[in-house]
Amino acid sequence: MMRVFLLGNPLGHSLSPVMHNAAFRALGLDWRYELLETPLEGLPEAFETLRRDDVAGANVTIPHKQSVIQFIDDLANGAGRIGAVNTIVKREGRLVGENTDLYGIIRVLQDEGVNLIGARVTVLGAGGAARALVFALAQQHVASIVIFNRTVQRAQALASDLRHLDAALDVSINAPSRLKEASLIVNATSVGMSPKSDETPMPSGTEFPPGAVAFDLVYRPLKTRFLTDAERSGLKTIDGLSLLVHQGAAAFKMWTGLDAPVQVMFDAVRTAIHDK
Ligand code: NAP
Repeated sequence: MMRVFLLGNPLGHSLSPVMHNAAFRALGLDWRYELLETPLEGLPEAFETLRRDDVAGANVTIPHKQSVIQFIDDLANGAGRIGAVNTIVKREGRLVGENTDLYGIIRVLQDEGVNLIGARVTVLGAGGAARALVFALAQQHVASIVIFNRTVQRAQALASDLRHLDAALDVSINAPSRLKEASLIVNATSVGMSPKSDETPMPSGTEFPPGAVAFDLVYRPLKTRFLTDAERSGLKTIDGLSLLVHQGAAAFKMWTGLDAPVQVMFDAVRTAIHDK
């Protein structure tokens, strides 16, 4: 049997095992996707596990998307540019860091018909997912990116990496006065995630920009307070479920070499959410 692990902490919210195990079963693969709850100091031991012969790779989630980089053998182009890894693939015995959030985010926004060229984007968060998001958006010719983050240095580092990528892009941080001009506002923090689902990542004293699209990367619960408040303010909303499936499908293909059964994965996560 081959194994794939999810590295992160905490992992209780994750639907990735349900989704990937349904996909392995649907294709008749003798593979298992398992949780590997890993505190920061446990990363060296977790990487020993990943180097075992029966392991094909891993996903990486909060809070390790940046910290795993020091333990992998090679960084694929996209993940290197972003500075965040959400997928590890074993290739010829080497652990390669990839980022499939990048692909998933653009796929979801395109499927939802969000026009990105010239978009004015506000991003809440500056962690691993926010990194994938802003680098994906920068490649789609958005007009501006405003980053809000609790830890200012992390927002500064992300803004500086973005300016390095594209000197012409209008990038600013923690600027509440610019929120009203946003055409797309994305929650890329973990605020609002179950069990603290009454919390909102919106900067205090700000309101939703009228006519914008609100996208929450959190998928547990599906309807976060961020999305409920956005909907009340008349915004179009996008939840984190499609991103979960599309980033997962891209990772599945990297591990197995096979096209992922996307509909099976959607059905599995929808059923799991409604069963809870
Ligand atoms: P991460 O690297 O650990 O980053 C977490 C982010 O949330 C940081 O910006 C952090 O701010 C912020 N944050 C955490 N607690 C906070 C609090 N109490 N108040 C204010 N800010 C807080 O995690 P990540 O990998 O980027 O993931 C972020 C979220 O996106 C998670 O909920 C994850 O499940 C979700 N996600 C979903 C998908 C999907 O497939 N739908 C894909 C990727 C990510 P500081 O820098 O100040 O700590």
